[in-house]
Amino acid sequence: MNSPAALAPAERIDALPLPFRHVDDIFVDGAWVRADSSERRGVIDPATAQEWGSVPVGNRADLDAAVASARRAFDRGPWPRMAPSERAAVLRRAADRLEQLAEPLSLTNTLENGTPVAESGGAAANAASIFRYFAGLAPLLESDDVRPAPAGTHETVVRRDPIGVCALIAPWNFPINLVVVKLAPALLAGCTVVIKPASLTPLSVRFIVQALTESGIPDGVVNVVTGSGALGDQLVRHDDVDKVAFTGSTQVGRSIARQCGELLRPVTLELGGKSSAIVLPDTDLAVLRSVLIRSSLRNTGQTCYISTRILVPDSRHDEVVEAIVQTVAAAPQGDPLDPATIFGPSASAAQQASVRAHIASARAQGAHVALGGAAPALPAPFDAGFFVEPTVLTQVTPGMDVAREEIFGPVLTVLRYNEVDEAIALANSTEFGLGGIVFGADERGALQAADRIDSGSVGINFFASNHAAPFGGRRDSGLGVEYGPEGLHAYLTYKSIHRHTPLA
Ligand code: NAP
Ligand code: MG
Repeated sequence: MNSPAALAPAERIDALPLPFRHVDDIFVDGAWVRADSSERRGVIDPATAQEWGSVPVGNRADLDAAVASARRAFDRGPWPRMAPSERAAVLRRAADRLEQLAEPLSLTNTLENGTPVAESGGAAANAASIFRYFAGLAPLLESDDVRPAPAGTHETVVRRDPIGVCALIAPWNFPINLVVVKLAPALLAGCTVVIKPASLTPLSVRFIVQALTESGIPDGVVNVVTGSGALGDQLVRHDDVDKVAFTGSTQVGRSIARQCGELLRPVTLELGGKSSAIVLPDTDLAVLRSVLIRSSLRNTGQTCYISTRILVPDSRHDEVVEAIVQTVAAAPQGDPLDPATIFGPSASAAQQASVRAHIASARAQGAHVALGGAAPALPAPFDAGFFVEPTVLTQVTPGMDVAREEIFGPVLTVLRYNEVDEAIALANSTEFGLGGIVFGADERGALQAADRIDSGSVGINFFASNHAAPFGGRRDSGLGVEYGPEGLHAYLTYKSIHRHTPLA
């Protein structure tokens, strides 16, 4: 039997059911149409560095076509004027269809960004559950909202109108989830959208388009244009865009915020993070071990909210480090197409170089490498891939770059504390405020500590976001929230119609 590892890269990929590989089109007005641009960009398997697909690098004409399509669909309807429950029915059908596409979607995602199939295998189901969650908010939009003026002089009908044409810009680390968390509320609200996926992950989004198209979404409501960051910038500033939703780096987020500030254009920004896990002195290490990979190294460390900074009490330092090192060392790294793989490659050569540079800087600044730190010894063809060994850095002090900057790779840093107050201060000492975890056997003590963490989300003894609860970052981690009714509000604009109180 051929294990995936025994195959050369081309054979390995040719054997897979991949409906989308080399494409020359963008999605406009309800159809895939040939891009005006003849420039192309390859799609690379990060596990082998093999190019296996390619897409157009859209130009201004491609962008204008996509935005014009969204503008027409918004201005002429029917989508914004349909009842929310009718739109919800489309989202529910798309959710069902997406689940049927789970396998090719997962394989495409994995070959784009190296996410192990153990993780990408859940991407379609997760996206489906987001569509269904927002579909379930239709009654909220359909309920009457009539508010008597406090003085009793009149009353006001409050309308929740769709905000308009939305630019959705996503990064490569979760290319399905981070599009759908914007798309689902935008569509329920009655908006139309132009999606610009990240350059590393331009193909997996086509399964979302397919699911929606086959579910009866009207032409022009969803549009997709592939292209560079410069195209993303043009999309943000386009005259016919009414709202921008972005997930990505803090640096690009700041630039988008500047543009939107000048234009007075509503914007939500989900940006980088550097979250801490506070290990309280009464922590059960079996609990920590059981969730560590998921909550601190998910997706080979390429997850925005993970708690990669582990704050350990002096009194238990060595045993906690031992538990961390053993847990990370036991998680297999290798072919992301192998269902047993936990750690895949970094998503690109640039990302690999950046992670390696962080490890080198930690060494230079005096951190100790307790595990990893090198390139893993993997057999061909994975020796050509962008792998970085899972790494645990100890003796990290708050001033080191690795204690403050987002690494976005399979690297944990361990910092020491003495008193719990010191741990809280350490957790709150970065420029970010996205995630965080408190480990502790006494849930009340852990909740008290969680309340003192200055961050958009905190988990107690694990971390998992919840479609029904707001998710967003404080400080350099972003502006606004996604998920929950709060996430839907970002796609609405309000109109108050004042009228004389009708006579009974
Ligand atoms: P990125 O460089 O900021 O790119 C994100 C997206 O923006 C990509 O589609 C990119 O296109 C596009 N883009 C680049 N420059 C742009 C510009 N000037 N104007 C408009 N769009 C532009 O981020 P990344 O490196 O792909 O993703 C990693 C970062 O995302 C990490 O910092 C991570 O923490 C953050 N993240 C945050 C969350 C969250 O919810 N808070 C979730 C996941 C990831 P190209 O790909 O073509 O450059
Ligand atoms: Mg980038």
